Amino acid sequence: MKPITRIAPSPTGFLHVGTAHTALYNWLFTRKERGKFILRIEDTDIKRSTSAMSDVIIESLKWLGLKWDEGPYFQSDKFPVYKKYADLLLEKGAAYFCYCTPEELAAKKNEAILQKKTRKYDRKCFNLSDDEKKKLENKNKAIRFFIPDGKVSFEDGIHKRVERNSDDIEDFVIFKSDGTSSYNLSCVIDDHELGVTHVIRGEDHLVNTFKQIFLYRAFGWEPPKFVHHPMILGTDRSKLSKRHGAVSVLDYKKQGILPEALVNFLALLGWSPGDDREILSLSELTELFSLDRLGRTASVFDIEKLEWMNGEYINKLSDEELLNRILSLPESRQPTTENREYMLKVVNILKSRMQRLTDFMKISDYFFEDPTQYESVGVEKSFKIPEINQRLTLIKDRFSELSRVGGHSSPEESFNLETIESAIRELAGELGIKAALLIHPIRLALTGRTGGPSLFHIIELLGRETVVRRLEKASLFLNELK
Ligand code: GLU
Repeated sequence: MKPITRIAPSPTGFLHVGTAHTALYNWLFTRKERGKFILRIEDTDIKRSTSAMSDVIIESLKWLGLKWDEGPYFQSDKFPVYKKYADLLLEKGAAYFCYCTPEELAAKKNEAILQKKTRKYDRKCFNLSDDEKKKLENKNKAIRFFIPDGKVSFEDGIHKRVERNSDDIEDFVIFKSDGTSSYNLSCVIDDHELGVTHVIRGEDHLVNTFKQIFLYRAFGWEPPKFVHHPMILGTDRSKLSKRHGAVSVLDYKKQGILPEALVNFLALLGWSPGDDREILSLSELTELFSLDRLGRTASVFDIEKLEWMNGEYINKLSDEELLNRILSLPESRQPTTENREYMLKVVNILKSRMQRLTDFMKISDYFFEDPTQYESVGVEKSFKIPEINQRLTLIKDRFSELSRVGGHSSPEESFNLETIESAIRELAGELGIKAALLIHPIRLALTGRTGGPSLFHIIELLGRETVVRRLEKASLFLNELK
């Protein structure tokens, strides 16, 4: 039988990386087994759910490349159906009306906390006499599920046999007095109606699963296979939350993380291919995935590892593709038709130095504008040398002598890597100094920085005219420095 799985996010917030992690495992398992993957939006909490958030969730899953085969279904479309099933449980005596107000329930909970007693619902409404129930008939009422005595257990795909005593579970509300259903009821009904065979979700749902098993029993339905995978932890080993930085998938997009890197990274947080391979595409992951390789221990969301992985993916993209991805960032400068070629070359030079797409904006400025300041360490080390101005003037003259070709789009024969490098090395030789004593100040003059890619490549790309202008500007700065 082909598996049917689902991801069931609640649109009360953005798509959390934890939900993306769960979606990915469902997706990989389903693709591998050629089953069906469903998207269900669990928007039964009508006060906290918004359609804008549903849109964001849908957009985030699309961005990650986790396409679903069916849906999205919206649970808020189905309240009458859930009500019908809640009524069925009432009829069967598996559920009862509860007339307690939220204030009453909150007061009881507070009291129980003070007295260090169980906080379970005390079954006040279950124990009402028929007369009392009659009097309350027209009052606002919720429907509660009656937890029968005994034990509840199931075979989990990761935890193996898990068991809970029903004393530890309270009679929970399945249908609220405002006409909406609660998560456990609508989840069970939909998983059943959609024919879900495997419920793969985070370990934080184990407590719900016990309640859901009771519901399956009460309806007389076969429960699906459950797989509760460990949660992702923050660096302090507590559950990953906003305290640890970005948790929304779209924030990672905004911060220049590639979807293929995020997917690869998330896949390895709790699953391993069985060897030490770390860079795996979505299709490789699909090929290798199996539920039995899901681990029991939670993994830490290590942002440095994600950045490293992202850098690996960036480096593998073609210049053209990488430029397109950079240009899709809202803060990116947009090329004019004539400087697109130039931008492609800049991308090529900087590619291996980027860990995020957004790094491009931070490290490429001098390819587009003359530097407006020079790094102070550089000024101390490379500019505060008595002969410096004379040396920069000499190299500027050598560059000027290389015939008047070059420029942004076509660094030609006479102003190319080879001629540039020999001009610098020859001058160093004539002056009897190491080439580095020219290279460092030239880099500072041209880029404002002390580090970066190969200087000869930078010079070639900037073109003779820009290089000469920037060397002249540096001379003016050096005159002021005196
Ligand atoms: N709406 C629930 C959540 O977002 C779904 C849990 C489940 O997969 O059953 O956590």
